[in-house]
Amino acid sequence: MNTLLLKNNEEDLKKAADMIRSGQVVGIPTETVYGLGADASNENAVREIFSAKGRPSDNPLIVHLADFSQAAEYTAYIPEIAKRLAEKFCPGALTMVMPKNNKIPMVTSGGLDTVGIRIPSHPVMHRIIELSGCPIAAPSANISGYPSPTSASHVMNDMSGKISAVVDGGNSEYGVESTVISFDDENTARILRPGCITRDMLLEVCDEVIIDRAILNEVAAGEKVSSPGMKYKHYSPRADIIMVEASVQKFAEYVSLCDGENIYSLVYTGDEKYLSHRCFTYGADSSEQAHLLFRRLRELDEMGAERVYVRAPSPDGVGLAVYNRLIRAAGFEVIKL
Ligand code: AMP
Ligand code: MG
Repeated sequence: MNTLLLKNNEEDLKKAADMIRSGQVVGIPTETVYGLGADASNENAVREIFSAKGRPSDNPLIVHLADFSQAAEYTAYIPEIAKRLAEKFCPGALTMVMPKNNKIPMVTSGGLDTVGIRIPSHPVMHRIIELSGCPIAAPSANISGYPSPTSASHVMNDMSGKISAVVDGGNSEYGVESTVISFDDENTARILRPGCITRDMLLEVCDEVIIDRAILNEVAAGEKVSSPGMKYKHYSPRADIIMVEASVQKFAEYVSLCDGENIYSLVYTGDEKYLSHRCFTYGADSSEQAHLLFRRLRELDEMGAERVYVRAPSPDGVGLAVYNRLIRAAGFEVIKL
C-alpha cells in the first residue's frame, strides 16, 4: 500500500475524512500525540488499526468525538461527575471511561463493556471527525511498544505501507498521550494513565482523585488491572533505558563510571555542562520534558544508542506523566542515588 502524505488544508482533510468513512486507517495529528484513526463503529476498520500497530486485541481504543454532547450516542450512562469534568476540560487531553452501548463494537473496546471517550482540541483532528461524521477510534500511531509519534515523519517511519495516509499537522503540542480516568463513584475519579491534565487540575472538579497503583508499579502476571494498557511494555526504543533518580552532580558522577560504546545520557536542559560524555537534553521543566521525551527517544535510536541513562523527572504534576512513560520504557529499572 502506498501511504499518502496529506497536508493541513480543507481539500486534504476531506480526503482523509472520506478514507475514514470508507473504512480506511489514517494517521492524524492531535494535541497529545499522533493517532491512528478509523471509524470506531466499523469492526473491520478497527481490526486494521490493531494489525497495523501489532497491538494486543485486549488493549482498548479511545473513541474521539467532535463534541461532548455526542457522548450520549455511544455510552449507556454518563455520570454527573463526567459532565462537570467535560465542561472544564473538553475539548482537551482528557479521556473518560464510561459504560458503552452497542454502537461501539467489542473489537474497539478490547472486549470491555466500557469505552474511553475524548474530545480532541486539535483543529485538524476536530475537522476530520466533523467531516467524516464518524466516531474515530485512534490509539497512538506507533508500532505497539515503541515510543509514541509526535510528528508526521514519526508516523511515516512506523506506518508507511501499512495505512492509507498520514495528515501532517506539525509537531504535537503536549507530546504525551491524554490523561485517562475512570470513576469509582459520583465524586471520585481514578487516574488510569497520567497526562497533561494533572491530578490537581481534576481536583478542581472532583472531591477525590486516586492515582491508580499501576501508574508507578509493575503489574504482576495475571494481576487484574483497570486499564489493560498497563500490562504491556510500552514507549520503549531499541536502546536499553535506565532511569536514574539523582541530583545532577550524582548523576554525572555515576555515568562517568559507566563506559562503553554507544552509551548516552538523556538529561534536563542545563545539566549538560556537568557531563563529560555524549548526552541529549529533554527540557528544563516537566511540560518541556513531556513535549520532547518521545522525540528524543526516537533520535537516540537513530544515533545507534545502545544504552541510555535518563535523569528521571520528579513524579508530580505533568512530571507524573513523563515519569510513567519512562519507567515503562525502562522496564521498571530505576537506580536511586
Ligand atoms: P493509546 O490507544 O495508545 O492511547 O492507549 C490507550 C490507553 O487507554 C490504554 O492504556 C488503555 O488501556 C486505556 N483505555 C482505553 N479505553 C479504556 C477502557 N475502556 N477502560 C480502561 N482503559 C482504557
Ligand atoms: Mg499508545
